[in-house]
Amino acid sequence: MSRVYNFSAGPAVLPEEVLKEAAAEMLDYKGTGMSVMEMSHRSKPFQAIIDEAEADLRDLLNIPANYKVLFLQGGASLEFIKIPMNFMRKKKAGYIITGQWAKKASKEAKFVGEMVTLASSEDKTFSYIPDCSDLPITDDMDYVYICENNTIYGTKFHTLPNTKGIPLIADQSSCFLSEPVDVTKYGMIYAGVQKNVGPAGVVIAIIREDLIPTEEESKKIPTMLNYKTQVDNNSLFNTPNCYGIYICGKVFKWLKANGGLEGIQKKNQEKAAILYDFLDNSKLFVGTVEKASRSLMNVPFIVNPAVVTDPEKKAALEADFVAQATKAGLVNLKGHRSVGGMRASIYNAMPKAGVEALVAFMKKFEEENL
Ligand SMILES: *Cc1c(COP(=O)(O)O)cnc(C)c1O
Repeated sequence: MSRVYNFSAGPAVLPEEVLKEAAAEMLDYKGTGMSVMEMSHRSKPFQAIIDEAEADLRDLLNIPANYKVLFLQGGASLEFIKIPMNFMRKKKAGYIITGQWAKKASKEAKFVGEMVTLASSEDKTFSYIPDCSDLPITDDMDYVYICENNTIYGTKFHTLPNTKGIPLIADQSSCFLSEPVDVTKYGMIYAGVQKNVGPAGVVIAIIREDLIPTEEESKKIPTMLNYKTQVDNNSLFNTPNCYGIYICGKVFKWLKANGGLEGIQKKNQEKAAILYDFLDNSKLFVGTVEKASRSLMNVPFIVNPAVVTDPEKKAALEADFVAQATKAGLVNLKGHRSVGGMRASIYNAMPKAGVEALVAFMKKFEEENL
């Protein structure tokens, strides 16, 4: 068996320990004689799996009792419309546009009410996080929306926007559980787990209780799009993604066994520093993001156009880099089509050795091609 270093932006690398455990339990989960995939979501063993997953997540993130935890389906993309449908009471919300995902979310808000663009970094291909210390936020807004880590562009909010008392809603898909978070600063946090936590098909939402629609408000929200439905049924109104939740639960335990979110943050900082330090000193490669906005999770980089001035030669070198890296067992390094070049996603489960192997490969490529 040979495992590669998988730098995919998502679905992405999972901890090897978790995969081995799941493999060992595949045919017979804890003496039930069946796999978790074959089990009723109303069964005792599955109830224990989802209860434990929630308890461990609450522990990891220190989630206060007045926040609900939901395991949902439909991808992060379905939340884009659910958020305005559930929370737009005054029919107005502010969005900070830091990339495609925030933009897509803001588009859905317009189906429900008025979407105000509070700030945007589109002028420079979303390569930075705008100053959010004094945004044009007004009292008649229901919430302020951010995409906290921009998977495609490799930027991250290192300071949360000053929302002037308006609830903050954050898409944390690509930074969820990568560092400690003060949940009380948010009205809602949500994440598609396929980036940093588990297999595709589960969205985790953490929602402040008082924002959940009331009985009266619920009359106008379709059942499966209403957060209250899953709150009232502990995420079991209908069949959830049982196997996905089971794997997420294992990842939570893996995080707890590895120093919790403080522990993983330290490792993530170390890994990112190895790559960013190399990029900052490289002649051939250059990062595409303003230093103050850099993500610890997604690192886009290109062949430096100031060094390789012919655009065709630059594109050819980048394609060659990706192809040769793949042969060397460093896979999924091609950048998103809107940025070009390369992108290394170095999520929680990417070992430090993987980042070191990537940097060693980049050094060698640079020596051979400069
Ligand atoms: C991948 C991604 C999404 C979309 O997730 P789906 O589960 O495919 O809908 C949304 N937001 C961010 C930040 C992402 O990285």
